[in-house]
Amino acid sequence: MAKIILDPGHVEGYNRGAVSGYYEGTAMYHYAYRLADKLRAAGLDVGITRTKITDNPSLTARGKQAKGADMFVSLHSNAASSASANGVTVFYSIKRNADKPHATKWCNELAGLINGGTRARGASTRKGSGNWDYYTVIQSAVAAGCPHVFLIEHGFHSNKKECTWLMQPANMEAMATLECGLICDILGVKASGGTTHAPASFGQKMVNTPDDTLNVRDAANVNGKKLGALKDRSLVEVYGLAGNGWVLIQQGSLRGWVNGKYLVEPEKTFAPYIVRVTADALNIRKGPGTNYDVAGCIRDKGSYTIIGEQDGWGRLKSGAGWISLAYTTKVGDADAKPELTRILKLTSPNMRGEDVRWAQARLNALGYNCGTPDGIFGPNTDKAVKAFQRANGLSQDGDIGPKTWAKL
Ligand SMILES: [Zn+2]
Repeated sequence: MAKIILDPGHVEGYNRGAVSGYYEGTAMYHYAYRLADKLRAAGLDVGITRTKITDNPSLTARGKQAKGADMFVSLHSNAASSASANGVTVFYSIKRNADKPHATKWCNELAGLINGGTRARGASTRKGSGNWDYYTVIQSAVAAGCPHVFLIEHGFHSNKKECTWLMQPANMEAMATLECGLICDILGVKASGGTTHAPASFGQKMVNTPDDTLNVRDAANVNGKKLGALKDRSLVEVYGLAGNGWVLIQQGSLRGWVNGKYLVEPEKTFAPYIVRVTADALNIRKGPGTNYDVAGCIRDKGSYTIIGEQDGWGRLKSGAGWISLAYTTKVGDADAKPELTRILKLTSPNMRGEDVRWAQARLNALGYNCGTPDGIFGPNTDKAVKAFQRANGLSQDGDIGPKTWAKL
């Protein structure tokens, strides 16, 4: 497996940009984790020189981490005293001439992306007064034996327009996609574009807040901009830790920082289990009792995972609310294969339930990608079911009936 080391430059709060709130050392840290996700999805082994946003290893120590890696990339944004200075520079090592065409292509494509086209300042080397690379981080990575070493200046944060561009999450996402492709090309890795390799994470945690929701912010402190909110008791994946107790999480497409004191281990709190609904119509309520508002209604007699109990009521894993357990039967542990009580298929609105979630997790494990197992039978699940049926000699109707269920 190809290995790459990403080196987000500097440290949290270092190198203020032309726009209030931008710091190179903070922005590049977040960007490195975003890029790492994409590289891991493409099948690369990725290391990051800063595991906490407050980490600030020496330049030599950063480069040394390139030992045994196929590529080392130091991530920066540039600064100049002139506010109009703009554009992209890609540095490579004076000892790695073969990297020049890669650096040139990288520079041109990145410059083409930023603000729909900024100045390509070119592929450059910079020599110290002896025969060594001026940039210590490049010198150190080369000394560690790394074959491809780059330092990328992603535009100028001293330029208001480029700084503004660098502050938009959607732009960072596009930049990560572009750079992931460039890196895969250089290393000869076929970018899968798919998501067969799940991005690495620190594991699942459960939200445990005294309030109904927990705010997700774009920076690791209460002053960060609110990006969204997590429902209490819902599950998140942890992707990074800030030194101050804040945690980088993802839930669905929502990714950002939350205060880590409101996250707990899900298994320590409650052993989830699956129930089958026995009533034709079972109200979902916002709390454990009929005095709470109705939040929805289950009419499919499907299977659902319960992640908490109170006064004979069970809390649904989906976050939709609570149901009375008197109208359910317990059918097993959360990981066990549920009993198939209906035909699972693509319908409008989409079918939901624990049986769907189980099938999705199973299809993913078998290499038929459904995306995140969310318990909702959508078009991706339909496609995965048909591919599974084709490979297993079943009729390709996309319906999970008893035959397909038995093969899963
Ligand atoms: Zn820098």
